Amino acid sequence: MKIEPLPIPTRLLGGEVVDSYAGRHARRNGLRADQVEAALRDVLKFPQSKSKRHPDRIAAWRALGDLHERAFTEPEIVAGDWVVTRPLCSKCVPHPDQASGRLPWMGWVCLKHRRWMGDPQVDLARFGEALVAERHWRHTLAPRDVVVASPVLRLAEEAALVGISKSATEERAERVSVPSPGVLVYPETVALARVLTRPSFLDLACDPDAPGAQRRALVEREVYRILPDVEDAEAWRAVARAWTMVTDLSDLIRDARLVGMAPDDGKYNVLRYSRWLAQPPQGLGRRAEANRDGAAG
Ligand SMILES: [Zn+2]
Repeated sequence: MKIEPLPIPTRLLGGEVVDSYAGRHARRNGLRADQVEAALRDVLKFPQSKSKRHPDRIAAWRALGDLHERAFTEPEIVAGDWVVTRPLCSKCVPHPDQASGRLPWMGWVCLKHRRWMGDPQVDLARFGEALVAERHWRHTLAPRDVVVASPVLRLAEEAALVGISKSATEERAERVSVPSPGVLVYPETVALARVLTRPSFLDLACDPDAPGAQRRALVEREVYRILPDVEDAEAWRAVARAWTMVTDLSDLIRDARLVGMAPDDGKYNVLRYSRWLAQPPQGLGRRAEANRDGAAG
């Protein structure tokens, strides 16, 4: 039996997940989503399971909303990282609804409404640096499949929080109504994430054969460019975080070579940007052999 759309249409918001849409669409039609689903169950072979992601349930809400086939197809995982379901920009959602979705193509800022979408949502009209950072995210990080709350993003934010100058955050805090730590360091977080996922950076910084001093100098130069080494900052702590990452990874690359395997970077998930994963495992194995021969000679 074909499912007819509910009489009052509800526009699907970008990235919105089925639970969010079902609640809003049912409410606009004077119903509750569970009532609609119970009614469907009586007349159709609608899934009895509680699984929210059952394909039949998703197909039913597409039909109930008269939505296109791509509705509710945002991925749950992008390049190995989870895409979190998060509240959408409250200005994008028709009042008085609330909505949530998966938005792998953007960071934490709605550029249309100049709004921070973290918790709590705040207006960014007086914090233009965050808007610039969001544009950088979409131009650089999104094409690299970097998503919010991924390991490299967490590392970048931690490094920004420990390494930023106190006066910089104090000055910014006056321009944001509710200055949560994440929003205040967003420009540095995005800038660091861009460095930590840049192929040319990873190629050298993680190279087990390159001199440590050269790799260290590269990490310091890149981090201090973003987090200046000034009096009221502990930028060295940010350097330490980045240095830990690249040394972990170079150890991983060296160990993988010894057994002729590709390095398994489950912790940071950034080697996929570098030549260290672009090379086939055999190539690494041959190179490891050559190194061993060299060492023996
Ligand atoms: Zn918005």
